[in-house]
Amino acid sequence: MSLRGRLTLLYVSIVGGILLLFGLAVYISVSQTIKEQLDDALRRAARQVYASTDFKADGQVQVVGLMTMDLPVDIYVQLWGRDNRLLDASLNVANLNHPLDAARLPSAVPVFSESLVNRAPARVLTVPLEASGRPIAILQVGIRQDVVTAAQQTLLAVLLIGTVIALVAIGLAAWFSARRALKPLDAVTQVALQITRADDLSRRIPYQGPPDDEVGQLITAFNQTLARLENLFNTQRRFLADVGHELRTPLTVIKGNVGLMRKFREFDEESLTSIDGEVDRLTRLVGDLLLLAQAESGKIPMAHNIVELDTLLLEVLSQLRVLAQGKQELCLGSVDQVLVCGDRDRLKQVIVNLVGNAINYTPAGGEVLVGLGKSGNQAQLTITDNGPGISPEDLPHIFERFYRGEKSRTRQREGKGWGLGLSIAYWIVRNHNGRIEVNSTLGQGSTFCVWLPLASESEDCARDEA
Ligand code: ADP
Repeated sequence: MSLRGRLTLLYVSIVGGILLLFGLAVYISVSQTIKEQLDDALRRAARQVYASTDFKADGQVQVVGLMTMDLPVDIYVQLWGRDNRLLDASLNVANLNHPLDAARLPSAVPVFSESLVNRAPARVLTVPLEASGRPIAILQVGIRQDVVTAAQQTLLAVLLIGTVIALVAIGLAAWFSARRALKPLDAVTQVALQITRADDLSRRIPYQGPPDDEVGQLITAFNQTLARLENLFNTQRRFLADVGHELRTPLTVIKGNVGLMRKFREFDEESLTSIDGEVDRLTRLVGDLLLLAQAESGKIPMAHNIVELDTLLLEVLSQLRVLAQGKQELCLGSVDQVLVCGDRDRLKQVIVNLVGNAINYTPAGGEVLVGLGKSGNQAQLTITDNGPGISPEDLPHIFERFYRGEKSRTRQREGKGWGLGLSIAYWIVRNHNGRIEVNSTLGQGSTFCVWLPLASESEDCARDEA
């Protein structure tokens, strides 16, 4: 059954249950009240007859003419002697020669009962009369009950019709309000189906209602998921295109050089160097991809050694000077002696990636400044360049895998990367309980700042031998 059908059924059964209980309570209390009023009328009539009856000393009853007594017209009265002789009766039962309720006549205490008088239902009060402690007569007072029955039937009909009308109204209201409330969900389903059919993740679900109600929150969450998926697919699509392109170039170079050597049947040193360089680049790509894949599955072993970060930094910088080829000025700011606990090779990779990027992205004549210091119990490594900077659109994404800034993708440069360097650096630093921050202004340069916890005495850290 549809959600709408179930909601409607739920409302109808709840309201139906309440109305049923309410109707039952009304019916019982109204019937009870009418019955009590009848009983009161019977008691009053009995008292009136009793007050007009004389009891003689010899036990005889002096009957006051019931036929002439001023009693309500719908009240029947009979006065019976102990010998079951009818002593007197009201005019409306003058023709009746048997008791109003024969079964209750011998009763020793006053009692109410239901009976049939002139074939109509009646309520009867039987009162034994006594004089000087001796029973001398029995008074039976009755009243017709058909008015009560009619009132009960009318009440029942009103309650039943009212309940049915109320249930139909509630059912319709629930059905339409559920349709109204669930309509946006239909839109969600339609858009989701269209997205699947057209394979178009750029679509979003429109919603006019308040964004903070349940449906609004669902749609916002759905749209956010779509945005994330779209971003992910775009990144991967871009990566595939980039990698396809990047792989073709070195492979073409390698094939060309091999072809040349085969043609001239001799080893050409220049061709071999070129092949060597391209193979190195391909190896780096495969290495990076493997590292990230392993990182994702949590299978990378991470050493826990004391690492002298200052020594490592100086070592890496001397190697990277070769990369700069004197085009950019690689300057060293203040370098404190800093010990951290971690994996030397991985930390080296962080420095290589960050400083390498600074060199690669800064045009010739630019400057890259590297510094290392301490702040509280944290080591702070800063790499500042006065290169092109990173645009605000790129900045939130640069640590994502395969993400490359718009300019980096279009610009031809030596040793092109694959948009993996920063995500690898980010992952390594995070696994050392540190963090990377970046500040960048377009056209002015960028500053990458790595924070790592200093090695503490209590830490379980071995001294690095490297
Ligand atoms: P890659 O350098 O291989 O493209 P990275 O993950 O190292 O990939 O960097 C991601 C992107 O961040 C780069 O494509 C580039 O747009 C931007 N970027 C990183 N470092 C710098 C920098 N120092 N100056 C300007 N842009 C940078």
